[in-house]
Amino acid sequence: MKNNPTALTTLKKDDLIVVAGAGGFIAGSLVRYFHDQDFTNIRAVDKKPLPLWYQRIPGVENLSLDLSYQDNCKRVVEGAIEVYNLAADMGGMGFIERFRVECLRSVLINTHMIEASYWAGVDRYFFSSSACAYNTTLQEDPNVRALKESDAYPAMSERGYGWEKLISEMFCQEYWAERNLKTFIARFHNVYGPNGTWDGGREKAPAALSRKVIEVQDTGSHDITIWSDGNQTRSFMYIDDCVKGIDMIAHCNELIATPINLGSNELISINDLVSMLEEIAGIKLERHYDLNAPRGVAGRNSDNTFIQQILGWEPNTPLRKGMEKTYAWIKQQYADRKAGKPTPAGYKNN
Ligand code: NAD
Repeated sequence: MKNNPTALTTLKKDDLIVVAGAGGFIAGSLVRYFHDQDFTNIRAVDKKPLPLWYQRIPGVENLSLDLSYQDNCKRVVEGAIEVYNLAADMGGMGFIERFRVECLRSVLINTHMIEASYWAGVDRYFFSSSACAYNTTLQEDPNVRALKESDAYPAMSERGYGWEKLISEMFCQEYWAERNLKTFIARFHNVYGPNGTWDGGREKAPAALSRKVIEVQDTGSHDITIWSDGNQTRSFMYIDDCVKGIDMIAHCNELIATPINLGSNELISINDLVSMLEEIAGIKLERHYDLNAPRGVAGRNSDNTFIQQILGWEPNTPLRKGMEKTYAWIKQQYADRKAGKPTPAGYKNN
């Protein structure tokens, strides 16, 4: 790996870092990542009430505010050196195919956050885009050609969620072109790991399937329902790789206003992911297929040529290793909830 600049080599320990969406999965882990590096001035913001955040880290300023309002955005970026916007109304396929209006309305968050950041004189602004911004017509085959950055245009994004990401990317690019705000855009491919949604309708395949396997073990049945025919393929990036990648991307001046893939290129079908979980859990399942359930695109993988070229690195945690940790965490959450302990699972913020 190259000697890439990061927050540690760029910032002073008491520079204010603002992280939006911090009650959620990825931003919560990003806050922990900066906190563990001894940054002392972190402001974490989410519209969820504090008890429902996956992680609340001592010493961090935690604010519960709705960032689709301009005044709240102005308030949270005041004094910030860096802003990381990961707040969005999002979820797995079950959510984004059904709630397109909610997904589109996330455009308000980025619109106000970037404008407020510009007027606050922020040095660096990071936006979490998605592989859903890519042209869907390139993803109609499970043996998909991995998506490279230029595949977003001509545009035919995922309706709702993907188009919101694409237009917010454009905001980032034009704030740099016209106003000199240094912006950074990562197109995340599916992210998984502990401290994320695992129940309630927003969870993605790795967490949803883990929970289903745990339910099967709990109830003594062996039946599992898989959405679609299970032949759809995806790649999944472990959370530790994601936060490390965000840090390197946000401090790489070659990447200003330049969308870049941040994802694993270990492609797997949903059926094979179920087999992996069977091994982890030590169980054999009776598979049923719900062909009317949302499937999303047939296949999607990340082409990591560009990130390798620029950073000399790519997300590299083996899926099996990450899934073992994720499964263990969800199993504990499941047991805690069953025992009546409070867990954030199942919370819906719309
Ligand atoms: P998440 O749902 O766990 O976290 C997003 C957080 O944003 C939630 O806690 C939510 O309450 C908050 N939020 C929503 N609307 C808000 C508002 N108006 N004001 C303040 N906070 C608000 O999702 P995540 O998986 O952590 O995703 C983080 C970012 O990464 C999102 O932008 C998402 O689109 C993007 N992304 C995630 C994945 C993935 O696989 N998880 C893939 C591609 C892109």
